[in-house]
Amino acid sequence: MLVKLETPLGEIRGIGPHFLPRLKKLGILTARDLLYHFPSRYEDWSEIVNIAELKSETASSAKATGGQSKTIRARVIKIESRRAWTRRKMLIIEGLLADDSGEIQAVWFNQPYIKNILKPGTLANFAGKISARNSKLILSNPTYELVGKTEAKHTGRLVPIYPETKGLTSKGLRFVIKGVLDHLEEIGDFIPPEILKSEKIPEINKALQNIHFPKTSKSAGDAKNRFAFEELFLLQLRNLREKLAIRRERAHKIAHTNDEIKDILKGLPFELTISQKKALVEILKDLDQNHPMNRLLQGDVGSGKTVVAGIAALIAGKVGQVAIMAPTEILARQHYKTLVKLFGDAHTNIALLIGKEARIHYGKELETASTKSDLIKKIASGEIKIVVGTHALIQKNVKFKNLGLVVIDEQHRFGVSQRAQLTHSTSSGQTMPHFLSMSATPIPRTLMLSIFGDLDLSIIDELPKGRKTILTKVVSPHNRDKAYAFIRGQVRRGRQVFVVCPRITINNQEQVTKNKLELQDIKNVEEEYKKLSKNVFPDLMVQMLHGKLKSEEKKKVMSDFTDGKIDILVTTSVIEVGVDVPNATIMMIEGAERFGLAQLYQFRGRVGRGEHQSFCFLFTEAESKTAEKRLEAIAKAKNGFELAEVDLKIRGPGEFLGQSQTGIPDIAMESLKNPELLGRVRTTALEIIAKDPDLKTHTALLEKLREFKQRVHLE
Ligand code: ADP
Ligand code: MG
Repeated sequence: MLVKLETPLGEIRGIGPHFLPRLKKLGILTARDLLYHFPSRYEDWSEIVNIAELKSETASSAKATGGQSKTIRARVIKIESRRAWTRRKMLIIEGLLADDSGEIQAVWFNQPYIKNILKPGTLANFAGKISARNSKLILSNPTYELVGKTEAKHTGRLVPIYPETKGLTSKGLRFVIKGVLDHLEEIGDFIPPEILKSEKIPEINKALQNIHFPKTSKSAGDAKNRFAFEELFLLQLRNLREKLAIRRERAHKIAHTNDEIKDILKGLPFELTISQKKALVEILKDLDQNHPMNRLLQGDVGSGKTVVAGIAALIAGKVGQVAIMAPTEILARQHYKTLVKLFGDAHTNIALLIGKEARIHYGKELETASTKSDLIKKIASGEIKIVVGTHALIQKNVKFKNLGLVVIDEQHRFGVSQRAQLTHSTSSGQTMPHFLSMSATPIPRTLMLSIFGDLDLSIIDELPKGRKTILTKVVSPHNRDKAYAFIRGQVRRGRQVFVVCPRITINNQEQVTKNKLELQDIKNVEEEYKKLSKNVFPDLMVQMLHGKLKSEEKKKVMSDFTDGKIDILVTTSVIEVGVDVPNATIMMIEGAERFGLAQLYQFRGRVGRGEHQSFCFLFTEAESKTAEKRLEAIAKAKNGFELAEVDLKIRGPGEFLGQSQTGIPDIAMESLKNPELLGRVRTTALEIIAKDPDLKTHTALLEKLREFKQRVHLE
């Protein structure tokens, strides 16, 4: 039977109850999933040497351990198993292998079945690392493959090594993947031939073969390039098509006059920064079109995004309704308060609708607590102009009469279906509201273009004048006591402190045994909490907050901290976006080298929110100069974007997007930081869309895009 890409693995011979559940765990269900599970690297076991050569090479190389892997072809002379003397009584299989040139010992651990496969007399290839034990050379845990049966896939060639997963070895994966490749139906390529040619990348059948079982490292490289291109290409096509689709929708044209804007600005207690003004102009221009705006407003926490969005809301509220949404109720309430404070006496009303609470603010400080159902009615009648809530606001029973603008905080993209829900009929036909999303997560420009290329972008890259800069210092281990003394002084003056640790607990057995030293060095909340509360600051109120606490406990700790009942809060990276405690002036980060720069930057944004001078201490146990340099970059960076660029170079795109969740393979992830390739991909995608926006002549591509959309999630 020929296998198609869509064929479920359960229907393929040779993939049985051993593999199926393990593959399923990795989300690998079809032949396509399996073939797109790429190796992370290759080992060159292509050269077959004889035992004498192997031994003399190993002996002459400086180190006898961890040397290069080579393949030998040998016969099994003897094979025996025994129990180790250690407490765990590991099963050890020892084999004696021989070829014309000599003999060598091989050893395997806990694989009893090997005795049944490698019976004395069997001829096989063996590939593995050589180690020296009691001045004897031993082949330890070699991969083996019987000679003569089928084409070699594990030895005697470039061998693919797959990302390590529990219960699924590279050997197992090679076995099933080879099986599928051998029975795969010829696939039509969705990338047009002229593009393959100009990009110098192999067509799909060859690429699949070569990514898993390359003859040379060049062919492996070409295959990799193809899959990287493929992924970026699909990403761009999706973005462009999404953009086009929104262009084709109709929206209410929301006009404004310069006088109107001047009036609003005059009413503000401050002057907008230059980048705020620029962003505002871009947004107002978009609103004044008869197709929906789809814009992302990016800027550091406190850079004044909400104000800009608020002005847009005032303008939109004059002719229609506005929904403003935040990821949590706390943040929604904060937005509501900000808007009421700034625009409370403008000629409009502002409402808050969250969980059980409903309020309406009618201009000139007239605020009424309303019932939810009353507010929902008033939204439906069109009486309410601006309403703030959580992301749930536009779902379910809340119907708007005339929704003109949706503002959404900390969610980059608005789903197509969410959008469609908000499309409604008016006298001028179906219209869709304008969309503005806001984000404080700094994303480097190259990533922005590829990942969020469907969105137009406005950036606020300066903080309002007069903000106190947060004094940032990298603290080396021998200055720890000084830092503690300083913290004590701050607490005495009534200030509060965050201590962020990379981990919650230490009780991760597996890693402890595997990498003892490293793990014990990593600071964790529980230990740090004990240390600080018992030894360092026994006289102060120290508490801990982390994701493993019950939600009630978390709430209590958070509100105690907000109320000033806690002096020092030991926590993980969970400290919520938007935690706003102006009295907290010290952010102390343990194991700072373990966090991304952008993340550290976000942590730092939790202090410096009040009138007091604030401080950020980056503690590092790392001795390396690069770690220190990296951290110094934070102290210097002007804004989050600048830092994000640095971070991208150091840590790669995966760290930004959360590799496992996006669905983008590592191969393509890496090329997301290759601006030259990205530029080419973009041009290529644009050319295709310009000629054939609906991809009528590219049915295979359209089909592939559908699969891509299901797989890849970049919200
Ligand atoms: P963001 O939403 O980007 O985190 P906000 O819009 O909430 O920032 O602004 C943070 C604080 O700064 C608010 O109290 C706001 O009133 C104030 N603010 C905003 N823009 C300016 C400005 N140009 N000058 C002075 N203060 C400003
Ligand atoms: Mg904000």
